[in-house]
Amino acid sequence: MRCSNPGCRCPTAGPKKQPSGSVSIGVAAHIAAAAPGGPRYQQLMSRAERVSSSNAIWLCQVCAARIDRDVSAYDIAFLNGWKDLAESSAQSELGSQYPSSFDDRSIVYFMSMCLDRPAFNDLFHRERSTEEFDRALEDTITAFNTGALRSRDGVVLQTHMGKSYLKNPLLRSQIDAFVQILRAIRSRYLIARESGEITEQTRRDGRKFYMVHSAELADWFDNTRLEALRLFKKSADLVSIPFTVTTLEISIARNTSGHSH
Ligand SMILES: [Zn+2]
Repeated sequence: MRCSNPGCRCPTAGPKKQPSGSVSIGVAAHIAAAAPGGPRYQQLMSRAERVSSSNAIWLCQVCAARIDRDVSAYDIAFLNGWKDLAESSAQSELGSQYPSSFDDRSIVYFMSMCLDRPAFNDLFHRERSTEEFDRALEDTITAFNTGALRSRDGVVLQTHMGKSYLKNPLLRSQIDAFVQILRAIRSRYLIARESGEITEQTRRDGRKFYMVHSAELADWFDNTRLEALRLFKKSADLVSIPFTVTTLEISIARNTSGHSH
């Protein structure tokens, strides 16, 4: 009933307005293409394997289009990882009440652990690489949505409950807004990469770093992230989870005083 992309999880079916029945916007997408030349086509697969449900993943139409346009980012192992996650969360949700052990406080605690990484502490221009920053944002959005925090190679490090399990409506709307801000940062970052406002450079020792060609844009990334973290702190305060945004605050304050000299 939901898109299997852990970063999306949008409902793929809903009631029709008139007269009865339901609307589905779900797609059973091929993991490996059914025909030669298609995305992720595997020559050695049998016809039976190609048409089997084990070679399909349930997605919304947007995600189904996305995985076929960027085959290098969404390879077979990656998509099977999504499928495993979606199936296990569907199994644990089926016919059950929300588990009481996953109360609001423990969910927010899990979320605060997810934010304990350089992407949320360092100034934007100090990040080690553009890809890592983008990936950290994506992983965090996924973790907040699904309760699964993945390491860089896609392994699930820790599982908990996603934000939809929060019972306090104020808390849920704050966390929703927090995730929206992260999405906005990620979109702005992707636009900046496309347009050349941010470029990746290679040092002599081969390490990569990136350059933001606009001071306003770098400030926007830092201040918007700080705003997001302050919002998260409101949620943490609500359930008495210790959370501090001072590392980024101090860095921004230092950087700003540096500008004026
Ligand atoms: Zn989707």
